[in-house]
Amino acid sequence: MPFDLDRYRERAESFGEELSREYYRHLAGHKRELEIEPIYETYADLFDRDSVMALRALAAGGGNGDEGRRLRYLLHFGFDGLVGMETRAEAEEIAGLEASLVVDAGDGALPFRAVVIEQANEVDGERRAALEDARNAVLDECLNRAYRAALERAHELCREFGWPSYTAAYGELRGIDLERLQAQTAGFLEATGGAYGPLVDGQLTRAGLPELGGLRRSDMPRLFRAPEFDDVFPADRLIASFEATLAGLGIDLREQPNVHLDTDSRPTKSPRAFCSTPRVPEEVYLVIAPHGGFEDYAALFHEGGHAEHYANTAADLSYEFRQLGDNSVTESFAFLIEHLLSDPVWLCERLGIEDAARAVEHSRAFRLVMLRRYSAKLAYELDLHGGSADMARMPERYSELLSEAVRVPWPRVSWLADVDDGFYAACYLRAWALETHWRAALEDRFGESWLANFEAGEWLRGLWRHGQRLDADELIGEVLGEELDFTRLAAEYHEEPE
Ligand SMILES: [Zn+2]
Repeated sequence: MPFDLDRYRERAESFGEELSREYYRHLAGHKRELEIEPIYETYADLFDRDSVMALRALAAGGGNGDEGRRLRYLLHFGFDGLVGMETRAEAEEIAGLEASLVVDAGDGALPFRAVVIEQANEVDGERRAALEDARNAVLDECLNRAYRAALERAHELCREFGWPSYTAAYGELRGIDLERLQAQTAGFLEATGGAYGPLVDGQLTRAGLPELGGLRRSDMPRLFRAPEFDDVFPADRLIASFEATLAGLGIDLREQPNVHLDTDSRPTKSPRAFCSTPRVPEEVYLVIAPHGGFEDYAALFHEGGHAEHYANTAADLSYEFRQLGDNSVTESFAFLIEHLLSDPVWLCERLGIEDAARAVEHSRAFRLVMLRRYSAKLAYELDLHGGSADMARMPERYSELLSEAVRVPWPRVSWLADVDDGFYAACYLRAWALETHWRAALEDRFGESWLANFEAGEWLRGLWRHGQRLDADELIGEVLGEELDFTRLAAEYHEEPE
């Protein structure tokens, strides 16, 4: 049968809609099982070799205009799906094991997936370390074999489709110059090297944890948990503060017919906020089980940024521009809203925190740890996926790069589990940088108090209308006449307040 592009597009959209709704229903606690297998079966034709090969051929001649973009986004979708189908056995094995395995640090069994939460709530550093060792042993013995098999299969598939490596495949599919990005993030690591130690040590001391040099990776969930901020980020102000923030921008969350705010409590609801988008812009879910604390606020504001971006995307854009494209764009808007937790004026006005300095420093430190960790991950993933990696050396390489960037001795054993599919790390890194461009543009145009300015809200909605038709580079080129760079992001760490 000849390849029918229009039909492919329609079926791709229906597939995405069903899959997203199924995830929403499961994670929001409406149904216990996650039944995605039947959906993949119904739409298996989207991810067969012939279809994806046909898309690859079409995309190669698609040109630089909108049709070329649509084809590339569609090829990315199809190829991801094909890799997913071909590594399904390993993914299912990993999910099944992670859900059933237990970890025992010598004082009783704990579900594998509960370890990080247990570490976050554990005051005893020795027990946090024992949990880490026990979890790492399970990872090494039971899971890494499947991770390795899936990785090698994905590398093979890239070669079978004519790319020299996984790096080459995803650089092209995402339209991101990964080597250039790595040069930028290497510069960022260097530029923030001086500020990092004092900023993070300050937070570690405040949290009663060892400083860098004595800190272990098992202590990091405890640092991020930050129980000392629980009273300034109370559960009962979470939704109200988010709504009030949007109201300042002229957005009435409760009146948006396409945004379904789900705050009900259900026994199997995900404890972490998330956003699901079965139909963009018509059906967007923002789901949260409010329990308060810094991380809960960060998660809701981040997901809320995604929700508003998708909810304000123009309905008349083609499917690829509403649902696919460069996720650096949607992540940048998620970070823009999440960043309010580092804004002293916002913290004072919305949460009544008089002396916001401590909370600001905590969220700055949190972001810098993440930025440096992701910069190191990108460098590592380029080695891992470059096509000439000596796999036997990769665990050491992983540990080296992460230890150096985060300044915490980093275990080798997560060299496979800590790898994002398809270089998603690159999207986060670009999004962190892009967010600083948006924030500067908002301050330039509407002043420091842009958050309480309807016109700033108008301007943002105008940006959101684009969906992800343009990638991050194109979008700031067109809207701001700027080039995406990391200097503003690095400059935010150059001077230590007080
Ligand atoms: Zn996100």
